[in-house]
Amino acid sequence: MNLLDGKFASEKIKIEIAQEAAAFLAESGRKPHLVAILVGNDGGSETYVASKMKNCEKVGFRSSLIRYDNSVTEIDLLAKIKEINQDSSVDGLIVQLPLPKHIDPEKVTETIDYRKDVDGFHPVNLGRMMRNLPCFIPATPYGILLMLQAYQIDTTGKHCVIVGRSNIVGSPMSILMARNANPGNCTVTLTHSKTHNLKEIILQGDIVIAAIGRKKFVTADMVKRGAIIIDVGINRETSTETKSGFKLFGDVDFDNVAPISSWITPVPGGVGLMTIVGLLKNTLASAKKEIYI
Ligand code: NDP
Repeated sequence: MNLLDGKFASEKIKIEIAQEAAAFLAESGRKPHLVAILVGNDGGSETYVASKMKNCEKVGFRSSLIRYDNSVTEIDLLAKIKEINQDSSVDGLIVQLPLPKHIDPEKVTETIDYRKDVDGFHPVNLGRMMRNLPCFIPATPYGILLMLQAYQIDTTGKHCVIVGRSNIVGSPMSILMARNANPGNCTVTLTHSKTHNLKEIILQGDIVIAAIGRKKFVTADMVKRGAIIIDVGINRETSTETKSGFKLFGDVDFDNVAPISSWITPVPGGVGLMTIVGLLKNTLASAKKEIYI
C-alpha cells in the first residue's frame, strides 16, 4: 500500500501557486482575491471556510469572508452576489454549502458570475468541462486530478468506479475520468443509491472513488486487490479523543482497505487538502484571466 498524501502533494503545489501569485502581484500591483460567503454557523462549514481563508493568506492571496446568519433572505444574498460580480477587485467568489432550506442553492450557483465561479459549480463551467473547453473545474474533482498527477498515476484504460453522483463531486468526476486526457481515459461506471449489485461493481474497479457521505461504507470485501482508492468522504463525529471535539472519517474503511490497495488517500489528510489547492488554482487562473477575459 502507498499513501496518496494530500499534505505532501498540496504543500508542493502551494509553493508553485505562491510563486505565481508573487509574480502576479509584481506585474499587476494586486493580489489574487477570493471572497467567501458563509451563511449560518454549521461547524463543518466554519472549519472549511476558515481553512480556505488561511490557505489564501499562505500563498499570498487576498481573502475576504462575508458572513450572514441563518435568517438572511434569498433576495439579500443574491443581491450581495450580484454586487460582488461587479467588483473588479474580486477574482473568485464562493458560497459555502449547505445553505439554509429557504435559500435555493441552484439560484445561488447560477447568480454567481461564471467568470468568478472558482468552485466550478456554474452550469457554464460544467457545460464547458463536458466539452473539454477551458473552464473552472469543480474544486474537489480538480483536486483529485492534481493528486493523481502529483503521484504520476497512469489512469489510462483503467476501470474507474465512482460511488456517488452529486453535482459537485461524483458526476463531474465521471466526466473527467472518462475524457481523453491523463488523468482520464478510464472506462467509468458511475454508481448511486439505486445501483443494483454495488459490491460486485466496486469489486471491478481498478480505481474506486467514494463520494457518498457514509462513514466506512466501502469495506475490504468490496475492493479488488491492488485497486487505487480515492476517499472523498468527510463524516464528522463528536469525539472526546481530540482537542477539537470532533473526529473525521472517510467513506472507506481505511484500516482494512489500505492493506489490499495499491494507493489510497487518508481522511483527513487526503482529498480535502487537494480541494483547497483546486480552489486556489482556479482563483489564480481567474486573476490571470487564463480562462475568461
Ligand atoms: P451528496 O449527499 O450530494 O451525494 C451523495 C451521493 O452518494 C449521492 O449520489 C447518493 O446517491 C450516493 N449514495 C448515498 N447512499 C448510497 C448508498 N448506500 N449506495 C450508493 N450510493 C449512495 O454528497 P456529496 O457528493 O456532496 O459529498 C459526498 C461526501 O464527500 C460527503 O461526506 C462530503 O462531506 C464529502 N465531500 C468532501 C469534499 C472534500 O473536499 N474532501 C468536498 C465535497 C464533499 P443518490 O444520488 O441516489 O441519492
